[in-house]
This record gives sequence, C-alpha cells and structure tokens, in this order.
Amino acid sequence: MIAPALLAWHARHGRHDLPWQQDRSAYRVWVSEVMLQQTQVATVIPYFLRFLARFPDLRSLAEAPTDEVLHLWSGLGYYARARNLQRAAQQVVAEHGGMFPTRFPDVEALPGIGRSTAGAILAISTGQRHAIVDGNVRRVLARLFGIDGRPGERAFEHHLWQVAERETPVEQVATYTQAIMDLGATLCTRRNPNCLQCPLSPACVARATGRQQELPASRKALKRRQREVVMLLAHREDGSVWLAKRPSTGIWGGLWSPPEFANHAAAETLLPGAADGLQLPAVEHAFTHFDLRILPLLAAIPDGWAPAAGGVGEASDGLWYNPRHPARVGLPAPVASLLAALPDIIEAQE
Ligand code: SF4
Repeated sequence: MIAPALLAWHARHGRHDLPWQQDRSAYRVWVSEVMLQQTQVATVIPYFLRFLARFPDLRSLAEAPTDEVLHLWSGLGYYARARNLQRAAQQVVAEHGGMFPTRFPDVEALPGIGRSTAGAILAISTGQRHAIVDGNVRRVLARLFGIDGRPGERAFEHHLWQVAERETPVEQVATYTQAIMDLGATLCTRRNPNCLQCPLSPACVARATGRQQELPASRKALKRRQREVVMLLAHREDGSVWLAKRPSTGIWGGLWSPPEFANHAAAETLLPGAADGLQLPAVEHAFTHFDLRILPLLAAIPDGWAPAAGGVGEASDGLWYNPRHPARVGLPAPVASLLAALPDIIEAQE
C-alpha cells in the first residue's frame, strides 16, 4: 500500500494553498480539474480565479453567453474543454436542478468528463472512493510498479487502472488523490524525477532498475502535418479589424479570428485588392498533431465595403474588433497577440 507514505509526505510537502482547495465544492473542483487536464497548475491559477470571479456558481456558467466563457478561456487552449464545461453546466441545470451530481455514472455522463476526471471530482469534493489515472498518476504508477507499455494502449491502461483501484485507500481518499497528483507534478516529473526526496523510492521499481527515463514509454510519435493559412486583417480607419466567428467544431471552435484563406489570391474574394496589402511576419503555432503557419495580411478596407457581401457569412457571424477597446469574445492566443500589436503597425503605416 502506497497510501500511508504518500499521505505522510503530503502532510508535510504537498500543496495546500491552491485556489480550488479553498471553499471546496464540486463545482470549483470540477472547473479546476477540467482546466488542469492539459495545463500546468501555475498557468491555470490566474485563469481559474478570473473564471470563478465571473462564474461563481454552476448556474451563472450555464446561463452565460458562450462568447463570454470562451473569452475567459482565451489563451488556455483546447477550447472544446470550455464549450463542454458550459454544456455540462446546462445539462446539470436541466437534469439535476443545478446541483452537481454525486453519483459516478451521472458525473461521467457529462460532456468533457471521462472516468479519471469523474473520479477526481468525486474523490476530492466528496471523499468517495474512486481511483484516478491522469497524466501525473500514470507516470507515478508506471515507474513505481515497473509497468511497461505506451499511454493509450489498452493492456497498459487496463493494468494501470487495476493498480490505481488497488492502491486507492478507503479513508482519506480526497487527500490521497491530491497527494498522488502532487507527487507526479512536483517530484516524479517527466524529465527529472527527484527520487532522493520521494517518499515512494524504497519501493520504486524504476528507481531500483534505473528505468525512470524509460517509464512510461512516450506515446507513439505521430507524423506532424504542416498547414499554412493567410489571415486577412481587413481594417477600418479607426483600427478595427473584421473578425469572423469560427464554426463550433474544428480548431479554435467558437472563437473569433480574422477570415482565413488558402492564399493571397483567395483573400481577394472577400476584399478586392487584399493581395496588395502588407504581409506581416508569419506566426507559428503548434497544435497537438500539426503546426500552423499563419501569414497575416493587413489591408485597409475601401469605403462602403460590407463583409457579408464577400461570402464570409452573415454579418451576425462577424464583428469589428477594435484592439484598443477589445470586445469580450474568445480569441485564439496567436490571434490575440497579433491583434494587440496591430494599432502600432497601422499607425506606423500612416
Ligand atoms: S522514486 Fe523516482 S521514479 Fe520512483 S516514484 Fe519516486 S520520483 Fe518517481
């Protein structure tokens, strides 16, 4: 049993002052777990605080405009998480009267919540006994018990879940869950595990056999694709730029960005003369499976130009975004940086 050593370590060295550990509720734990799914604690904290200040409870999240939710998620990435969070909040209002469910199947049935996240929410917020296998826990258990295999492989995942179920204690489940996540995040890190300080080192197979760097094996490397798009920054005299709302599926779903085109010539279909605009330096952005190269093309609009006429969509799918007085909408991180730099670029042109 690893629980006694982990609990003793956590009492002395674990993290006890994270914002979601204060006023602990299922809602706060849920929001934090979703934010932490692909993102580190230090990055999440300011986002969590802003999000909770605006949406202090589940009902306020369910009733908010989606643009507002995505606005507060801007820069955190993996935006499907934010859309699912709001859909789940709406589902909880519709099906559970606004009370976050406490039965595991009900929690796991919510959008964006898998087995591990459901277990973590219930274990931490209610003390129910549920195992978790998130990225940190997967690494700790694979090393500790010398479990070979790649993340995502059925036999490997099955083995990990068996071990996680077995090791989860009956009592102090909330603290144990927090402790094993903390150990993975602070000591048993991917590149430099600090085995000297680790309370589990006497029992650790990876440490005894010098296999810390091999376990767990990396996910199968996917061949990365490259994509290039022209983003048309069509601007008015006052510096406002035309943004279009992206479809809710696909990259940056539901966020706002300048219209995209395959090349300069295609940009002319929306704004005649656009190809003669100013080509700004390319912006590179890495997604999980591909690299995106954005070629920003800056062009002033002529008098009387109407975006809807150019085929980008209905006028309601677009807005004039003034970087000096930004609207509260969700922007992809590279677009936000690009727009923030625009007033100076436009000014320099004049
Ligand atoms: S001894 Fe090292 S490899 Fe093993 S669990 Fe602790 S930090 Fe990880």
